[in-house]
Amino acid sequence: MGGKVLSVASECVPLIKTGGLADVVGALPAALAPLGWEMRVLLPAYRSLRHHFEEDPEAWPEVWFEAGLWGGDGRVFAGQVDGIEVLLLDAPHLFDREGGPYNHSGSDWPDNPQRFAALSWIGAQLARDGIAGWKPEVLHAHDWQAGLAPAYLAYHGNGGCRSVMTVHNIAFQGRAPTELLGELRLPGWAFHPGALEYFGGLSSLKAGLITADRITTVSPSYAAELMRPEFGMGLEGVIAERAGVVSGILNGVDTGIWSPEAAAENGYSARNLAGKAAARAAMSREFGLDVPGPIAIVVSRLTDQKGIDLLPAVTPGFIEAGGGLVVLGAGDPALEGAMRDLAARFPGRVAVTIGYDEALSRRLFQGGDAVLVPSRFEPCGLTQMYGLRYGTVPVVAAVGGLGDTVINASPLALAAGAATGITFWPTDALALSQALRRLVALYADRGLWLKMQRMAMAQPVGWETSAAAYAALYEGLR
Ligand code: ADP
Repeated sequence: MGGKVLSVASECVPLIKTGGLADVVGALPAALAPLGWEMRVLLPAYRSLRHHFEEDPEAWPEVWFEAGLWGGDGRVFAGQVDGIEVLLLDAPHLFDREGGPYNHSGSDWPDNPQRFAALSWIGAQLARDGIAGWKPEVLHAHDWQAGLAPAYLAYHGNGGCRSVMTVHNIAFQGRAPTELLGELRLPGWAFHPGALEYFGGLSSLKAGLITADRITTVSPSYAAELMRPEFGMGLEGVIAERAGVVSGILNGVDTGIWSPEAAAENGYSARNLAGKAAARAAMSREFGLDVPGPIAIVVSRLTDQKGIDLLPAVTPGFIEAGGGLVVLGAGDPALEGAMRDLAARFPGRVAVTIGYDEALSRRLFQGGDAVLVPSRFEPCGLTQMYGLRYGTVPVVAAVGGLGDTVINASPLALAAGAATGITFWPTDALALSQALRRLVALYADRGLWLKMQRMAMAQPVGWETSAAAYAALYEGLR
């Protein structure tokens, strides 16, 4: 059947990205198009995005105007970026500033509740009323930044538009003080624990979770985990109560970009892995490495969520067993320091680059033997899927989407030729060091290793399956 969907989000590749959310929001429109679902993406016009409509007003007509949008005028400009139909919410008093989408010099913008209420408010208006010739049947809200959009539809009328709330990471909940209730245009009668009230305040994510017609998260396991206190982060009860409308849909990856076949240099395929050996050698040269065993890579935000704090404890044993480590990441200054210390302690075996560098990350996926993802929780995770695609064997904590996408090299799975990586649990130094020992042993068995690499590369990690699941979800709402 198909139809129209308005996606409301704070990030979208290739326009603005701080994490995996942006990849998903940017990939869905093209993945859904063949299934008959036309998606437009509403984003804030951050300073870095203003040039689109400022430099080419003809290609970016104004499609919506609202005065008095939390302290200034709001306009929506409609245009195309890399084939994606984009709607940019221009509200300079909220979004035209130096710094990141959510913070500046490490601290959150104090008016984040108002900024993203404005995004959600406009999203709900566009969904309810449509814009010239385009009226969506579904509003798809992503994370806390868009959490108020389903709430506005629920409390102010939905004009026949249904809503989906997707949780990419429950750690970010959009907390705001109760005093903002009226200013955020939320009804006082709904301020009780069964609805908007959240630990004595407000949470835009909770508001979305209680009002959306459907709730999704980015893997089946994370959907189940979110109903448990150790993962739900306070929202487990809210989600469990709505279990009947909750589902988990795994993210895909853009295999046009993330594929060894697409590499500019040293490309390779599952049939001929010679290019991978060349890429490993090139990476070793680039970082001055000389590693007899497996080289594990880490491409990650450096935070406790990602288990990066476990690396200093397990690396010495891994190095002694012949392994090497290449880290690319940025984040918590203490963890950045700990990574630099490791590199200084093990020259020739450990290389660390602090920063964000997509081109380098691709060289690491090409050249690495394994990718390490020791997360404490992981809604879906993308890097283990890049690892599968590149035959860079994932070594992952068995949580959330990591457990859903990697088949552990148990003796049975190895014998059946089904193993695609190594999983371990719980996320602690002991289990991780045991996983690294298994990695060293598997790597030493060349026949088995090659089989596992090929099996990993044969896993479908593209968007096709996920897009079909989203399309089915939307169909169910019509
Ligand atoms: P999260 O969204 O929690 O950070 P994901 O695995 O879902 O984790 O997505 C992270 C994305 O960001 C991946 O595309 C990963 O390759 C990329 N990434 C993270 N850190 C870096 C970095 N330092 N340099 C380049 N890419 C990075």
